[in-house]
Amino acid sequence: MTIAISSLTKRFDQTAVLRGIDLTINDGELVALLGPSGSGKTTLLKIIAGLDWPDAGGLVVNGQDWLPLPAQKRRIGFVFQHYALFPHMTVRDNIAFGLTVRPKSERPSKTAIAAKVDDLLGLLQIPHLADRFPAQLSGGQRQRVALGRALAIEPAVLLLDEPFGALDAAIRRDLRAWLREVHQATGSTTLFVTHDQEEAFELADRVVVMGEGRIEQIGSADQIHDHPASPFVARFMGAVV
Ligand code: ADP
Repeated sequence: MTIAISSLTKRFDQTAVLRGIDLTINDGELVALLGPSGSGKTTLLKIIAGLDWPDAGGLVVNGQDWLPLPAQKRRIGFVFQHYALFPHMTVRDNIAFGLTVRPKSERPSKTAIAAKVDDLLGLLQIPHLADRFPAQLSGGQRQRVALGRALAIEPAVLLLDEPFGALDAAIRRDLRAWLREVHQATGSTTLFVTHDQEEAFELADRVVVMGEGRIEQIGSADQIHDHPASPFVARFMGAVV
């Protein structure tokens, strides 16, 4: 799916949080939104997900205007830093959830859902955890399940908001490599929010640097490192390297 965002603006009270965002994400691309806390990354993700609305601007996905569509009609997979899995459901049932709650006419058969969940358990490298409950999993394992739940609906767009933010550095590195594999296997158009440069550059095809509600630069790791487009980018890169 191609996502075309144009001249998007958003204020909360008197504060401009998005100040004219223009961004096109290509079908199957993995793009990282990188920027300091408060730069508007989560707000942009929520607007794409239909959990918030802009004051002005456009959001067109595969040629369709998404702004009038309610969240349920957008086929979004969303993973947050603290993703609440259903504690009373097994891993298998958590992953199947988005399929089992579909209206009857659109719901796959029980056998088809079980087959889909088995495929995902394999892709996520957690078949041995299928019958456990969330409380019996590590943080990294929980985020694999959260991603499985997001992928089960075959999302048009996958939105990941600091999904590994609460995990140890070594586990984050493992999960990054693994996420690239999952992305290659599924080909989902993916937007990944992080304030961690290393994570952004290692994962993404293109990195979008945001500051104070604006896109400051879009490019590869080398382009952004070697040719920062503004003093803001230079400072931000220097501050964290
Ligand atoms: P980031 O994800 O880059 O940390 P956010 O999109 O979460 O940034 O927030 C951008 C700015 O918008 C912050 O200053 C934040 O305080 C403000 N903000 C976010 N959500 C709300 C809200 N619901 N009401 C008021 N201000 C908000």
